[in-house]
This record gives sequence, C-alpha cells and structure tokens, in this order.
Amino acid sequence: MYTGRIVDIKKETFDTNQFIIELLGVKQFEFNPGQFVSFQLPIHENPKKALRHYSIASSPFENKLKFIINKVEGGLGTSFLFEKAKIGTEFPILGPVGKFILPEIIDRDLVMISTGTGVAPFRSMLNYIYEKKIPHKKIHLIFGSKKKENLLYHDEFKAMAKKQESLEYHVALSRENFNGFQGYVHSIYRDLYRNRQNAHFYLCGFKQMIMDARSWLQENNYNRNYIHFEIYD
Ligand SMILES: Cc1cc2nc3c(=O)[nH]c(=O)nc-3n(C[C@H](O)[C@H](O)[C@H](O)COP(=O)(O)OP(=O)(O)OC[C@H]3O[C@@H](n4cnc5c(N)ncnc54)[C@H](O)[C@@H]3O)c2cc1C
Repeated sequence: MYTGRIVDIKKETFDTNQFIIELLGVKQFEFNPGQFVSFQLPIHENPKKALRHYSIASSPFENKLKFIINKVEGGLGTSFLFEKAKIGTEFPILGPVGKFILPEIIDRDLVMISTGTGVAPFRSMLNYIYEKKIPHKKIHLIFGSKKKENLLYHDEFKAMAKKQESLEYHVALSRENFNGFQGYVHSIYRDLYRNRQNAHFYLCGFKQMIMDARSWLQENNYNRNYIHFEIYD
C-alpha cells in the first residue's frame, strides 16, 4: 500500500477534474499502461467499502500519476474528491491492478474506444507507445461523449495525431456536430473494420457502450482474444 498526496487539481470540464498525485517515497511507480489503482478514501469505516478505482492516465515515464475523474451526482468518493480534497490531501493507494493492457507484441491495429473518462487508460498507452517507440500498426482513438464541452485531452490528442502518422483521432458527439459527424462511437469503428479482422479492440467507459460494441464484434466473428474491455460503472 502507498500513500498518495494530491499535488495538483485542474478543472477539465464542468464535472471532470484532473488530479495529479505523487506517491510518497516512491521515485518510479511501475505499472503497465492501462492499469488502475484503488484510492482508499475517508468515506466509510469499512476500508474495503472505502475503495474507489481509477485508471492511470499518465504514462509510466511521467514521475507523478495523473487521473481524470468525473463527479458522480451523490457519489461518496467523488463528493470527497471534488468537495473536500485539496492540494496536500493524502490517502492510501493500492495497486496497480488490471489486465486491460497492451499485447506484448503489437502486430495488429489498435482500436481504442472510449466514453468520457474511459479515455484515461488510452492516454497512458499512447504516450507509452510513442515515448518508448514500441513497434505497432495503425491506431484509432475514438472518443465518445455528448457535447464539445465534454471533450477530454482534446488538444493533446489532436497534436499527437498530427505528429504521429500511425494515429487517427476520432470524436463522436451524440448531441452536437463535430467536423461533420454527429453520433455514437459505434458507427466509426464499424465503418473502419466491418470486413476486416486485423485489430485489437480496447473498450473503456460506460457499460452500455461496451455491451453494444462487444455484441457487434462477436456477431462479426471477432475472436474474443482480441476484444479487451474495462467497465467503469
Ligand atoms: C477499473 C475501474 C476504473 C475506473 N476508472 C475511473 C476513472 O479513471 N475515472 C472515473 O471518473 N471513474 C473511474 N471509475 C469509476 C470509479 O471507480 C467510481 O465508481 C466513480 O468515481 C463513482 O464513485 P463514487 O464513490 O462517487 O460513487 P458511489 O457512491 O460509489 O455511487 C453512487 C451511485 O452512482 C452510481 N455510479 C457509480 N459510478 C458511476 C458512474 N461512473 N456514472 C454514473 N453513475 C455511477 C452507483 O451505481 C451509485 O448508485 C473506474 C471504475 C473501475 C471499476
């Protein structure tokens, strides 16, 4: 178990903050991009019920951990993080945990599909791939949300896609037109991969999005070994 200390809080959207956390006494925290940690927050007497899981949004090369967290109405953990926690607040952190990680050898395209803060593990994976120059094929990052005001790390991903030839960044907004497209994440990857089986699909975010994507992929005979998912709710 580690002790985490909040060193920065940045408002990203009206209900989403980025928290930067350092682990006391730890120079290099080793984890696989895509993994998450558990915050033990002062919200319950039972330590197990006080745990809330958050994907690491930073790459293993950044010396502090970044998290992108959405405030849940009436949620115990996020009420603490948004209303009580401040710079200097400390709490126990457990982990890293999780099997939502990159394949050892990336010999297929990567299709990263997220809704909202589900983009966190992809930010970690992408920075890792490009910083460490990991051999890879084409990468599609698909970010889904309702409106432009919900976009997360948009300028960063746009700049990354401009610099990295292998990366295509797609935005799917359900309630607003964005660069000529309005709709859900599904139509984007379905158009790209309808008759092709050469990709790993990584799905992260809301349960419904993940269920819908998995059903389509299975109906289209995608091998289960190439479908990876992390459900947030
Ligand atoms: C592996 C994993 C990684 C995660 N990573 C992130 C992350 O990077 N960023 C992030 O913001 N969240 C993440 N989550 C969700 C996070 O762990 C909490 O569930 C979330 O912050 C709500 O906690 P809470 O204590 O505020 O709400 P709770 O008090 O636990 O729940 C309050 C009510 O809200 C409902 N609820 C819980 N979560 C949500 C939600 N996300 N949307 C709508 N309703 C909800 C519950 O069913 C309950 O009825 C992750 C979850 C998992 C399992």
